[in-house]
Amino acid sequence: MNKAKYTYLFEEGNSDMRETLGGKGANLAEMSRIGLPVPPGFTVTTKACNEYYNNDANLTDEMKEQIFESLQKIEDESGKGFGEKENPLLVSVRSGAVASMPGMMDTVLNLGLNDETVEGLAEKTGNRRFALDSYRRFIQMFGDVVHGIEHYLFEDIIENEKDKNGVENDVELSEKALEDIIVEFKKVFEQKTGDKFPEDPKEQLLQAIKAVFNSWNNQRAKVYRQINDIPDDLGTAVNVQSMVFGNMGEDCGTGVAFTRNPSTGEKKLYGEFLMNAQGEDVVAGIRTPKSIEELKDILPEVYDQFVDVYEKLENHYRDMQDIEFTVEKKKLYLLQTRNGKRTAKAAVKIAVDMVKEGLIDKKEAINRVEPNHIDQLLHPQIDTEKKLDVIAKGLPASPGAASGQIVFDPNEAERKKENGENVVLLRPETTPDDIHGIVAAEGVLTSRGGMTSHAAVVARGMGKPCVSGCDAVSIDINKEVVQVDDTILKKGDLISIDGATGNVIKGEVELIDPKLGGEFKEILDWANDMKGLAVWANADTPEDAKKAREFGAEGIGLCRTEHMFMAQERIPKVRRMIMSETEEQRKEALEDLLPLQEEDFYEILKAMDGLPTTIRLLDPPLHEFLPNSQDLACEIERMKVKEEDEEKILEKEEFLKAVNALEESNPMLGHRGCRLGLTYPEIYITQAKAIIKAVIKLKDEGCKPCPEIMIPLVGYSKELSMMREMLEDTIKELEEENNISLNIPIGTMIELPRACVTADEISEHADFFSFGTNDLTQTTLGYSRDDAEGKFLHYYIQQNLLEKNPFSVLDQEGVGKLIETAVDKTRKTKPEFKLGVCGEHGGEPSSIEFFNKLGLNYVSCSPYRVPVARFAAARAKLNNN
Ligand code: PEP
Ligand code: MG
Repeated sequence: MNKAKYTYLFEEGNSDMRETLGGKGANLAEMSRIGLPVPPGFTVTTKACNEYYNNDANLTDEMKEQIFESLQKIEDESGKGFGEKENPLLVSVRSGAVASMPGMMDTVLNLGLNDETVEGLAEKTGNRRFALDSYRRFIQMFGDVVHGIEHYLFEDIIENEKDKNGVENDVELSEKALEDIIVEFKKVFEQKTGDKFPEDPKEQLLQAIKAVFNSWNNQRAKVYRQINDIPDDLGTAVNVQSMVFGNMGEDCGTGVAFTRNPSTGEKKLYGEFLMNAQGEDVVAGIRTPKSIEELKDILPEVYDQFVDVYEKLENHYRDMQDIEFTVEKKKLYLLQTRNGKRTAKAAVKIAVDMVKEGLIDKKEAINRVEPNHIDQLLHPQIDTEKKLDVIAKGLPASPGAASGQIVFDPNEAERKKENGENVVLLRPETTPDDIHGIVAAEGVLTSRGGMTSHAAVVARGMGKPCVSGCDAVSIDINKEVVQVDDTILKKGDLISIDGATGNVIKGEVELIDPKLGGEFKEILDWANDMKGLAVWANADTPEDAKKAREFGAEGIGLCRTEHMFMAQERIPKVRRMIMSETEEQRKEALEDLLPLQEEDFYEILKAMDGLPTTIRLLDPPLHEFLPNSQDLACEIERMKVKEEDEEKILEKEEFLKAVNALEESNPMLGHRGCRLGLTYPEIYITQAKAIIKAVIKLKDEGCKPCPEIMIPLVGYSKELSMMREMLEDTIKELEEENNISLNIPIGTMIELPRACVTADEISEHADFFSFGTNDLTQTTLGYSRDDAEGKFLHYYIQQNLLEKNPFSVLDQEGVGKLIETAVDKTRKTKPEFKLGVCGEHGGEPSSIEFFNKLGLNYVSCSPYRVPVARFAAARAKLNNN
């Protein structure tokens, strides 16, 4: 029988051996295998852990033998001796499970120290204080991890010693004081365990390995496994690794580095190090670190090692790496490497560059960039080349950057905005009562709340920048001041926030407009070639249509026509149409509106020349075009008080009557959509005429207009068949009149549950469907969007009752099921039937993935989201087909 192998030297393993070596062990092995300078070490396997448990929590002789054999190899490799006074080898002993269980199990550092080796360490580092401090930490850690000695027993000793010496901080303790502490620590150890502190490093090592194995079954590890579905019988591996010291003199140091610039993506080693220092010094930020570049002059041989390491890291991991390193006596060691975090700009540049360098393919590049990176690049951004006075950092809750005057009061935000001033709203937290302030502000900063706080959810929904949970700033809304450390800012002072990084910046900053050039354009073009879903845009104006095309939209999926009625100068004509008492009067009023609508359609169809343009006929209830009845009643009262002309008052009163008559209890569920088109057919007929006339004119000019007419809010197939007949008559009439054949598709929105479940019947009268997921969400959930978002949705999200805002991210189990039903029913009889989405979800990545899975033809979203949608569609196709 083959002898079981319980230990692996790092160079014997690789990244595929997670099961045997645990995650950390496999990664250390991989780094060693490819020739990266990792401090030597070995891993005791997960199998050893399981056998340890089967052997009544005892290490077998075979295990011990292999552990010491491996240790000998580390001594040989490092040229140091375990327990040797002159040149002591110290090791770290760490757990490393197959699945990452951060902080759940135990670690012992500086193992190998005893009364003799501590002096050797003192001599080698030339820093006896450091050696003594390491020793006392080791005793404490060992006592805690291996023997469960309570922390406070050690802490009390330190506190006593500080009092005795009249100092406040640990770092002020003298060598003598540390020596005393060590003596006291050992006494505690003996009292608690009944044994002397083990001076034999080999004994220390075996005890530490056992302790790590035991920690697999500590309470917090068990709970963590339960929550994360990690089987109990996997066991943990133990990594024993030589410690290296960056504080042994001027040819030592420690630091962190990135293989490319994580902010710009530039291909260049980027990082900082501290000479003659250890890890904690870097974090403490007391000394100013030097850039890696400077190593060229200070320690050129170390710089050369960096160049070598750089190549190996990038070629092997094929991604930008974030490394932690230590230099011990001119020798570079990597303690850790992982894929580095990066800004949106860097993510795109690195992915595109790596394709060009042959490191990755285009598919991988698309997967390396997150849709939210694309989103960030489309918001105005802070010019990072400029020097910024960053005063605090909160959560990057909603991307984009904003600058403006500080205001604390939402009403004031509104007032200032009306005066044309830009403001940033600061609140400890926002509530639905602050909504108007958020609307008015350029951005929002809150000191409390997380990524799903009210401010975060609302701001994201509005596409406004937000930094939330920034507890470094203390906001006093009564005194109207905000304080960060020593900086105090008042109402009216200028502040800026960067919702992509969470940075809060004092003063105003220059913002740069998003550009679709360079690597950004390149990766989007690749996405286009890969995606299955087409991406169209929701655009109501020629300007929006142009923007959409610029961003790569392949059509318009929704042109809402209501804004054409809303324009100030058209309102009197629209009102005349609404107030008409007879069909004749209405027709006359509509005749007046016809040329204006024709002009609108002409411009949009021209901007979209050659691409499908879906025009939706009027949807909202008519009262939306009328003034508020209460305002009107007040005005009448005022006129009466002022004794104005009786006739005028009478006229106003008639108007009020009509307004009241049109008012509805639930307008969202009321007289709107095709219900309006069926009861006032002249409106839809006029709109259809305007479209056809615009088409004829454009065709005469040699253009290729491609309109598609869309009917909103159909619930019964009969509604659509009646509408269709009416529109077809109109089209035919104009075709004959102009001796032309137009072939304009007529389709409908599917935005009611009834339409979904009877989609097969409706499809008999339609040339296409577009899912209106805004109304479909409202009617499926029974939420009115405005009320839900303003009143209770944030509460639901905070309470985890809902994970996401269903108006932003499709509710796949509910609304999605209805869509799926509609797709199945329709495609059963009409497999090629064109299906799209034009609700807000058409621009949201996870929803796009869902629509891709259902096999829809296109998604349509606002022009600024078109690039994100193109990108998300490509990722959906790559990862699902
Ligand atoms: C919808 O309901 O999803 C839709 C796009 O229409 P609107 O938002 O205009 O109601
Ligand atoms: Mg709708």
